[in-house]
Amino acid sequence: MAANKMKAIKVSKLGSPEVMTLEEMDRPVPKPGQVLVKIKAAGVNPVDVYVREGHFGSYTLPMGMGGDAAGVIAEVPAGESRFKVGDRVFTCEGADPLTGAYAEYALVPVRNVFPLPDVLSFSQGAALGIPYLTALRCLMIKANAKPNETVLVHGASGAVGLAACQIASAWKMQVFGTAGTEEGLKLIRDNGAATVFDHHDKNHKKNLMDATGGKGFDVILEMLANENLGTDIEVVAEFGRIVIIGSRGEAKCSPVYMMGKEAMCVGVLLMKSTDEEWKRIGDELVKGINEGWVRPIIDQEFPLNQAAEAHKAVMQHTGGSKGKIVLIP
Ligand code: NAP
Repeated sequence: MAANKMKAIKVSKLGSPEVMTLEEMDRPVPKPGQVLVKIKAAGVNPVDVYVREGHFGSYTLPMGMGGDAAGVIAEVPAGESRFKVGDRVFTCEGADPLTGAYAEYALVPVRNVFPLPDVLSFSQGAALGIPYLTALRCLMIKANAKPNETVLVHGASGAVGLAACQIASAWKMQVFGTAGTEEGLKLIRDNGAATVFDHHDKNHKKNLMDATGGKGFDVILEMLANENLGTDIEVVAEFGRIVIIGSRGEAKCSPVYMMGKEAMCVGVLLMKSTDEEWKRIGDELVKGINEGWVRPIIDQEFPLNQAAEAHKAVMQHTGGSKGKIVLIP
């Protein structure tokens, strides 16, 4: 392949996983405010699936796929001093749709690029962006969680949930987590959840309430609100905070439980972060990596030409998640 060429996943029409094809294209040159990253690993997030299916925002086709990745800086425009060629970095969202992050090289705005310390592999770096920044923003900003508070991570065995368990445990909160398989339950226990539950258990709600001595949870991070919001509203503590991170349908619930407890429920979308929040959570993430309490768990790696298989695996995650799925160019 010519030196100024690269390969990237392209989507020319929205639809099934097979609409993603690996194609050759010109390697782009970064404009001011951007850098060109040589991708070593790209994170596969559920939102990538929603985008490819046409269920999330509107896009100009053809387009690249993905936003989270890790690699090394390949090119910086004149006057860019924050990064230099060869720096190890990870990115979170924002990759220019021209390349996406499922690519050998990606154009990324500097705001979305962070230094990647040597202690983490490139695959771990690709697992940081959306999962860890979401978990940090939910705990720090949306729930304002404090040491010693009880935190239920409802759906803890996936990428966001494991990140939340590690962070909340490092911040000395009492962490409770749920998973759907024995392997998942072991994984979340190993990653900071002191008390674990199977979210498919028919006594799930009672088990949760009993574990808090009837008081309920100060904070609930919810990955599947359509399944669990009704339970969350019942098992949240007085003045508790429920943060809706994921939902895939309609929920049935009795809001009256919220009133007596003066509990709050908030939805989040990482992309709505203000510049100030973005800097705060980005700084905290880099601190967590350096202090050793951020340790991304990789479930499966797929080669870039198997992006379709990686997307299928991400959606099968709702039945035995064990961390993060990444693509390797
Ligand atoms: P993931 O890695 O696929 O994990 C999915 C999690 O959901 C697993 O822990 C899975 O557990 C769990 N789950 C399955 N059935 C459940 C149930 N009945 N009750 C509770 N949890 C259940 O996905 P992710 O990357 O962690 O993302 C999680 C969700 O958050 C997705 O819906 C995603 O779209 C959303 N999200 C939103 C934002 C935002 O800004 N709002 C950001 C990131 C992610 P088992 O497999 O062990 O059953």
